[in-house]
Amino acid sequence: ATAPTSPLRQTLADAGVDYLMASYVDMHGVSKAKMVPLPHLEHMLAGSELFTGAALDGVPQSVHDEEVSARPDPASCTVLPWNDKVAWFASDLHLSGKPFEACSRNILKRQTAKAAGLGYRFNLGMEAEFYVLDRAPGHAPVSERPLLKPCYDGQSVLDNMGWLGELVGAMNGLGWDVYSFDQEDGLGQFEIDFAYADAVTIADRFVFLRMMANKMVEKHGLFASFMPKPYADRTGSGAHFNMSLADLGTGVNAFADKADPRGCGLSELGYKFVAGVVRHLPAICAVVAPTVNSYKRLVKQGSMSGFTWAPIFCCYGNNNRTNAVRIPLGGGRIELRPADSSCNPYLGAAMVLAAGLEGIAEDLDPGAPNTGNMYEVTAEELAARGIRELPRTLGEAIDAFAADPLSRQVMGDGMADAWIAYKREEWMSYMAHVSEWETKRYLKFF
Ligand code: GLU
Ligand code: MG
Ligand code: MG
Repeated sequence: ATAPTSPLRQTLADAGVDYLMASYVDMHGVSKAKMVPLPHLEHMLAGSELFTGAALDGVPQSVHDEEVSARPDPASCTVLPWNDKVAWFASDLHLSGKPFEACSRNILKRQTAKAAGLGYRFNLGMEAEFYVLDRAPGHAPVSERPLLKPCYDGQSVLDNMGWLGELVGAMNGLGWDVYSFDQEDGLGQFEIDFAYADAVTIADRFVFLRMMANKMVEKHGLFASFMPKPYADRTGSGAHFNMSLADLGTGVNAFADKADPRGCGLSELGYKFVAGVVRHLPAICAVVAPTVNSYKRLVKQGSMSGFTWAPIFCCYGNNNRTNAVRIPLGGGRIELRPADSSCNPYLGAAMVLAAGLEGIAEDLDPGAPNTGNMYEVTAEELAARGIRELPRTLGEAIDAFAADPLSRQVMGDGMADAWIAYKREEWMSYMAHVSEWETKRYLKFF
């Protein structure tokens, strides 16, 4: 330990911070960390914290391999709003002094660097949806009102302003600029929307948000669930990606075009990006909807309100929530709707950006936007329009991921192989389980 040298150490000392968290994520996008006392800030920033990769899911290392080191990003320094003795840092992983290929944050940075090479900054906004439940056995959702269409219910938001106000206040205190929050379509489900930024910053924030939401509602006897579809009869929790490319120099949105002849307010560059994304949607889906449970959300029926608002086909359209890729009203951005709250945002953003850049490189055209209700399009019509289904299960999604060369290009062989192996095991474990639904249906049937 040395006397304060850096302005950052002084600032943190003045703020009363005692401990630093050198955090990075496993393949699930969950924060892992070592705690470092403040006097060791400079050592920590230089990579003093070493991790054994084999201890974590999806880090392609064995027990005898060299340790990876965390290189915390000073720009991500975040004093925990619920515990101001601790400051959290998102880190890149290094191996033998070089960026570690299978680090999620590095994987995203490789793609954002490609976009930067073309003169663009990749902007991302993530819409966080989640349920808040009682910690007591039974885990009742925080809102139970006799409503068939609970979406936007004013009373439910007001009933929950205690923890909600604290959480939104904390997000704003961090400078995230929350612009709206509401009771979503499932009772006990909420959405908090905050300003977009460059993709790496937003992925850092999303990882932090899942942890923060849980820690902040704890004292109310609650927990936040980011499971994609906790209830068969309630809408699932999406984490829609809203994306655009902006000129690196001027900041001008390169996806905006008010005179768009296709009527969505999107530029030609934006349409090429859309076409690349639609081409690779099944593999992208595997990463942005990465659990067995994710595919119970991507269905047409399965909510008390009558709508799931979740996509089921590989298609794009105008301001129309039945499309997997939607161009919200006003244009200038693209919304990826299959993404759910259980995703690793770095890997998801890397996949979708790579697909979009491929669309640009190959001058792809996505055709006319789908403007009708995609839930009602007939099988014949889908075939005529060349529209495929999204993967129906995690098993199908893994197959699509494994078959698409883009996956390896984006993740590198180590992470792609680790990901496929882990997810195949997850799927097989689920398939080997005999559920209550099955025994109810078959035990005495024959
Ligand atoms: N909760 C819906 C989903 O699972 C999205 C609702 C909305 O469009 O905000 O994607
Ligand atoms: Mg929503
Ligand atoms: Mg949305």
